[in-house]
Amino acid sequence: MHTGLLFESAWRDLYRRSAVLWVVLLGCIPGILLLVDPLSELFFRDGPFLVLVVALAWMPAIAWTGSRMASFICPRCTGAFFNDRVFFWPLRRACAHCHLPKWAKDISLAAIGATRVSAEFS
Ligand SMILES: [Zn+2]
Repeated sequence: MHTGLLFESAWRDLYRRSAVLWVVLLGCIPGILLLVDPLSELFFRDGPFLVLVVALAWMPAIAWTGSRMASFICPRCTGAFFNDRVFFWPLRRACAHCHLPKWAKDISLAAIGATRVSAEFS
């Protein structure tokens, strides 16, 4: 498979994972406000109890989407893109292991030093 296509599909997958994470994160407050009213009529309860229940139900969604972001694999080094040994940083602009920039189109030979290596062996 051509590495450009591999990169393109990997970045498309990362874009989807990131979009779902941001929708779940930013939709937390509006989602709670939208769900509390219909649930209060369904369960005949009102107030902070239902807000707490809906917020607690939202947390596994945030954890699931966060874990999907954390498990994104770098298309070049196949390491965890956003995780170094200790920290998960989803706003990272390059791979934690090989420093491949996010959204890079392809691996150029100059970027990985292949021209220098081939010049040494020729
Ligand atoms: Zn990498």
